[in-house]
Amino acid sequence: MLRRDDDSTGDQMAEFDLAIIGGGINGTGIARDAAGRGLKVLLVEQNDLASGTSSASTKLIHGGLRYLEHGALRLVREALTEREILLRMAPHLIRPMRFVLPAQGGSRPAWMLRIGLFLYDHLGGRKLLPRTTTLDLTHHPVGAPLRRRYTGGFEYSDCVVDDSRLVVLNAVDAAERGALIRTRTRCIRAERTDEWRLALVSHGRREARTARVLINAAGPWIGTVAETVIRTPERAPVRLAKGSHVVVKKLFAHDRGYVFQGPDGRVVFALPYHRDFTLIGTTDLDFEGDLANLVPTADEITYLCNTVDLYLREVVLPVDVVWAFAGVRSLHDDGSKKAGDVTRDYVIALDHKFHTAPLLSIYGGKITTYRRLAEAALARIDDFFVAGPAWTAGAPLPGGDFAHDGLDDQVARATERWPFLGAEHARRLVGAYGTRIGHVLGDARALDDLGTRFGADLTAAEVRYLMRHEWAETADDVLWRRSKLGLAFTPGEREALAQFMSGEGARAA
Ligand code: FAD
Repeated sequence: MLRRDDDSTGDQMAEFDLAIIGGGINGTGIARDAAGRGLKVLLVEQNDLASGTSSASTKLIHGGLRYLEHGALRLVREALTEREILLRMAPHLIRPMRFVLPAQGGSRPAWMLRIGLFLYDHLGGRKLLPRTTTLDLTHHPVGAPLRRRYTGGFEYSDCVVDDSRLVVLNAVDAAERGALIRTRTRCIRAERTDEWRLALVSHGRREARTARVLINAAGPWIGTVAETVIRTPERAPVRLAKGSHVVVKKLFAHDRGYVFQGPDGRVVFALPYHRDFTLIGTTDLDFEGDLANLVPTADEITYLCNTVDLYLREVVLPVDVVWAFAGVRSLHDDGSKKAGDVTRDYVIALDHKFHTAPLLSIYGGKITTYRRLAEAALARIDDFFVAGPAWTAGAPLPGGDFAHDGLDDQVARATERWPFLGAEHARRLVGAYGTRIGHVLGDARALDDLGTRFGADLTAAEVRYLMRHEWAETADDVLWRRSKLGLAFTPGEREALAQFMSGEGARAA
């Protein structure tokens, strides 16, 4: 890579232009963008890709209707615009969804919702998604699961995403464009001179790497990395906020999501999830504690169940929860009193002094705005390299090279080409791999050609693909981050998968 003539940074010998700490959506998004511009990129992730916050989101690609209340117009406009850009880039992972917002009195009366939704429809140059409509919930089928007191409301558009696969496919694309992606590789020390000297530990082995610019994209670990790895003198201005979700058996038969307002004004979503389930979330609490052992508390689970009970006729109890997960946002501390009031906008901080290698720190952000965040991050370090222009807006992610509304066509093609696939199996594979489904199925003529079936519709061929091309190493990588088949697996099936994977891993080593 050509470098700008800048005698303030770097000798010409660093192995990488950029080293990125963190394999969540922000780290992999930056890695992809930078690799596509011709930079030499190293990304290290201490666990699995998306094992942090980026697999624990509400899975919305949205403008964030609620952020309008905080006057965050820049963020909402950017996120609304990104919604359609991302839908075109990854139509296999991202789907439009209609959201039902029952109107009620209280702090958000119908007139206020109407104004908010009008802005929401018009701020972001909406082209593909349908606009807001008013609903008579006494007659519309989406009113049927609701308690009788909700008689009217609105229906608006946003999208839902498979968040962890979005991360993985950014990493796949980055690697195909030359980035070195190292999972289960922890950065334990970053020495700063005119370049960065990184000490990494991977599977018990230590290694050293050098880079010209370091990016701290460690999400909620940003402060820990700053203090213990980079050892910056100042404390990182970060505020951590925890959010929890629960998954229960399907609560309603239609394909819309609901947006409920909790008794304290917080917003709780209830979304159709993986055909047989409903995803309910989220809470928003200040967080201090151990990031390695994040689980929703009993109080958070009760709060979510109680909020849904205010709206749905069907009673939801904590014992109905089949899976629960929690994630932590790293927000840029703007001094707000409540976690829910802190800005969701991202902040990119560049630390660059004469004769020392630059450090870029990424605070906050949303899954929805990761692509713009990557562009903004690269613009901040533009002076240190001669790199190509921004390019990701029109470039599909791996397998996403088909029309934004072409999923059903792709499923039909898949069942024609591999007639032994059941309809649901074909839909799941197209939803995960898009036009790359053939990379998983190859020339198989019968289900048995795909090898052992571990549970649900997971076959050895798919697991091998995930191990060879998507950095899957453990059963949980496959069951919870490359897919959500964990919802359907028994403990015994999971154990058989884990044994198969350790055998395959040993053979490959
Ligand atoms: P992470 O995904 O946490 O990635 C950071 C990575 O750094 C981790 O994987 C970690 O293991 C790694 N790491 C840390 N230290 C080291 C080290 N020393 N060496 C190597 N690796 C290291 N956004 C939306 O757009 N839509 C939503 O619906 C939405 N819902 C949300 C719901 C909740 C409850 C939360 C908490 C957030 C939500 N967000 C949503 C925001 C979004 O999920 C986050 O902004 C985003 O996932 C942050 O990604 P990240 O890459 O910064 O962090």
